[in-house]
Amino acid sequence: MPPDISIVIPLYNEEESLPELLAWIEKVCTENKFTYEVLMIDDGSRDNSWNIVKQLSEKNPNIKGIKFQRNYGKSPALYEGFKAATGNVVITMDADLQDSPDEIPGLYKMVTEEGYDLVSGWKKVRYDNALTKNLPSKLYNGVNRWFSGIKLHDMNCGLKAYRRKVVKSIEVYGEMHRFIPVLAKHAGFNRIGEKVVQHRPRKYGVSKFGWERFINGFLDLLSIQFVSRFGKKPMHLFGALGSLIFFLGFVLIAWLVVDKLQNNIPLTNKPAFYISLTVMVLGTLCFFTGFVAELVVRNAADRNAYLTEEKIRL
Ligand code: UDP
Ligand code: MG
Repeated sequence: MPPDISIVIPLYNEEESLPELLAWIEKVCTENKFTYEVLMIDDGSRDNSWNIVKQLSEKNPNIKGIKFQRNYGKSPALYEGFKAATGNVVITMDADLQDSPDEIPGLYKMVTEEGYDLVSGWKKVRYDNALTKNLPSKLYNGVNRWFSGIKLHDMNCGLKAYRRKVVKSIEVYGEMHRFIPVLAKHAGFNRIGEKVVQHRPRKYGVSKFGWERFINGFLDLLSIQFVSRFGKKPMHLFGALGSLIFFLGFVLIAWLVVDKLQNNIPLTNKPAFYISLTVMVLGTLCFFTGFVAELVVRNAADRNAYLTEEKIRL
């Protein structure tokens, strides 16, 4: 029998928070009579975090753990947690006590009773620095909503709940933990909901993410949209774009040739001549990049990996 809930917790140097966090989770799950497992993914902590996890796991058999050899990042930690999770509902939570375990029953209910595939927490009232965290995060979520079409206020909230099938169908790699709802949507899970959750100030330790997160995050968002649309058919993008660029260059040069025949000014006296040549070369390069990308895709190990929803007699 799988447990009701798997709680996946990525952690990196969070020693002070762990005893309180795990005791609180235990309390909530016992009170609500959930069967559960807690997967503590230690992302290469340099402090005493892992020893504390080991000690606590001796007292509570529901605590399981993985320790990375070095610090890989939050996404790889979630990836391993999702791989190991067995619960019907999978809940992710930060280790720094900024997310409240009291939200677990409500999130669980939204997945099991209200039919959501994924429920994202929304830190409506947020206890982080207004200038470095809250304001940029608002802008960022606006861009995300616009690009992805997913109407979430707080896409990157660490507190989320998933139907098990969702976490088994997506691959959180690089720094893609910021865009799990986008990954889920592209995998075909459309029932994405939101729950206002209680947020708490960071009591111990420091934030692990600095300003680079905006640049990396934006580039990741572009990649994710590109891969999901053209990942299996890159020529449709590069071919169309390359042809268009080439055509523009060609039209320009044709016009210059007609102009020369009429007025007899040498082509080489005109800057537009060199510009049109360059544009045609760029178009050609773009077109052939499409062929190269197709070759890469044809050889990718997962080129014929499709997610199935149901099967009959197969
Ligand atoms: N984290 C991690 N690996 C990292 C960075 C962060 O596992 O390389 C964990 C961290 O320990 C915490 C969660 O990811 O449990 C969120 O990190 P943090 O609280 O620093 O982010 P913030 O709340 O400041 O956005
Ligand atoms: Mg935090």
